[in-house]
Amino acid sequence: MFKINENYLKLPGSYLFSTIGKKVAAFTKDNPDKEIIRLGIGDVTQPLAPAIIEALHSAVDDMAHAETFHGYAPDLGYDFLREAIVKNDYEPRGCQITADEVFVSDGAKCDSSNIQEIFSADSKIAVCDPVYPVYVDSNVMAGRTGTYDAKTETWSDVIYMPCTAANDFVPELPKETPDLIYLCYPNNPTGATLTKNQLQEWVDYANKNGSVIIYDAAYEAYISQENVPHSIYECTGARTCAIELRSFSKNAGFTGTRLGFTVIPKELKCGDVSLHALWARRHGTKYNGAPYIVQKAGEAVYSERGKAQLREQVAYYMKNAAVIREGLAEAGYQASGGIDAPYIWMQTPGGMSSWEFFDYLLEKANVVGTPGSGFGPSGEGCFRLTAFGTYENTLAAMERIRKL
Ligand SMILES: *Cc1c(COP(=O)(O)O)cnc(C)c1O
Repeated sequence: MFKINENYLKLPGSYLFSTIGKKVAAFTKDNPDKEIIRLGIGDVTQPLAPAIIEALHSAVDDMAHAETFHGYAPDLGYDFLREAIVKNDYEPRGCQITADEVFVSDGAKCDSSNIQEIFSADSKIAVCDPVYPVYVDSNVMAGRTGTYDAKTETWSDVIYMPCTAANDFVPELPKETPDLIYLCYPNNPTGATLTKNQLQEWVDYANKNGSVIIYDAAYEAYISQENVPHSIYECTGARTCAIELRSFSKNAGFTGTRLGFTVIPKELKCGDVSLHALWARRHGTKYNGAPYIVQKAGEAVYSERGKAQLREQVAYYMKNAAVIREGLAEAGYQASGGIDAPYIWMQTPGGMSSWEFFDYLLEKANVVGTPGSGFGPSGEGCFRLTAFGTYENTLAAMERIRKL
């Protein structure tokens, strides 16, 4: 008789977005005349830029002719894309990353959940709290996290690093040494960043303690401040301790098209074994790369026209972020983020819980956001608003919130 992977049964249900959906549906049924505005969207809403659409069309045409047809893509990605990545994302920032250290993939969600496979089953992980839930959930599935305590909503074998207003959303270096440290900056959900000096402390810590940092830079394109690093490889010594995850989802609208990449420097080793070789081996077997057509679209992201068009898209979302930030400040709320990320993180007023504030906002302003407690126990008493709506809706939502 077959058996299942029982680790999957330990996962608590994904209540967050299903509960939000149910609450909004119930409210709409009772109040059919009310117009709901969603500021909880975790997905981009602008269409693919023209330069990308043209590259897609042209790549589709390539597939129609024997001379330009492409079958299986190379396991680790096409050179044209890996070289464009290095030339645009790493060389200008002084990062010593070479094209053969870039692994093209179908997105950072997949990579961030798969990367744990190359590490020992008894690795101890550390995560920021609150954070993107994929890091913990993928380690739960792998049986690495111990037992779940429903009351505290924590796993016994995970090191949680609280990121709250009290520490300016910057985690302290853990006292118990983790094997794997997941860092996501600019952060989802808090919108917080690390300065280069702060990130350097993590790199030094990892090198000293023999930990690996898995650095999720999915929101890199939103960074506006000078002293915020775009890549962990801007820090000295990162080549021996850090893996970086990148995505084309939030900077170029590829959430439905699927494209990302992971960087593993050749010096990153466990004894004699290079993690680069292990990940290459995995890509060769459990291919999660991207099709030729999509990689050609990714190349267009780095064309001069593509870059200009995407700067405009990011600017559009960041204009929304400014509207939210300023609107909340005027209305007397305490909020942060929204400067280097499309997320604004607010403290709920009057000691309301995250879900109490969700209900309040839905009923009184007909605005939907995301309860902070859904991203980890330290998110309780907080609330996330996102800049991915339209400008008009964002203005209208803030007008309603100001009037509360
Ligand atoms: C949206 C997001 C990603 C992107 O994942 P894709 O699979 O590339 O769409 C990765 N990490 C974080 C923290 C995100 O919020």
